[in-house]
Amino acid sequence: MIKTVVVGAAGRMGRRLTANIAASQTLELYGAVEYAESPFIGTDAGELAGVGKLGVAVTSDLDAALTGADAVIDFATGGVLECVKSAARQGCAAVIGTTALPPEVRAEFAKLAANGARIVAAYNMSVGINLLIKLVHDAASTLGCNYDAEIVEMHHNQKKDAPSGTAVRLAEEICAVRGWDYDKDVRHGREGMVGARSDREIGMHSLRGGDVVGDHTVIFAVNGERIELSHKASSRDTFAKGALRAVEFLAAAKPGLYDMQDVLGLK
Ligand code: NAD
Repeated sequence: MIKTVVVGAAGRMGRRLTANIAASQTLELYGAVEYAESPFIGTDAGELAGVGKLGVAVTSDLDAALTGADAVIDFATGGVLECVKSAARQGCAAVIGTTALPPEVRAEFAKLAANGARIVAAYNMSVGINLLIKLVHDAASTLGCNYDAEIVEMHHNQKKDAPSGTAVRLAEEICAVRGWDYDKDVRHGREGMVGARSDREIGMHSLRGGDVVGDHTVIFAVNGERIELSHKASSRDTFAKGALRAVEFLAAAKPGLYDMQDVLGLK
């Protein structure tokens, strides 16, 4: 069994990760971590996840939790780099699902991987979304630059970052195919007399409301037709199950920084 620690264990994703690990034939819950002031310190992680006592109490001592662990899954909204550094020091593989990480943090992941760490970092761990990324790549390649590309995403009303990491990833994929630049060529929303759409832009639109787990649509439109590629997640388990697959992938992987396209063999 792969001894796995969940960081951000009291969060929406953390609880589903614990529940899925409890049901897994290959992973076992070895530790559960939250920030020091969390009201859930000392609570049994299984009870927190609604799957009954697992004998693993939530702790804020990250280094101690990772000692002897094979893998850590981190979907926490803070302290991610600290966690990956601690995992690297202890030879523990790291699966990172947290979104909106600054470029400097992702650059640190690459440095740690070059020095022997095994890391999967992906803004969306769902199999369907990773297939969508491939389909968007293929559509952008086939259609060329004269199809107007627009991205629409919707998430629950508690989501803190916008656009979603997945929407960013989809835009980056189109930019890569077209030789465009995300920072210059992605246009976030439109308001007022903005003029006609330019030939060189990808529209990005973030909707927030209710308990939507995650919807993403990429539209390619030209005079006479439009293609829409959509994915709708209805349960967080889709991300949790992807994270568990990433842990299994890293158990046999060489040091490196991977994404879900690597895990799923979509490259
Ligand atoms: P959440 O707010 O419900 O949970 C985050 C948890 O992290 C909280 O319990 C919080 O206390 C904990 N936390 C914050 N700082 C911490 C620290 N320093 N150490 C330990 N724990 C800490 O959020 P959520 O809905 O579970 O989402 C968490 C993250 O995962 C977000 O960035 C979200 O965008 C991302 N996400 C990624 C995927 C994916 O497939 N990659 C899917 C869903 C959500």
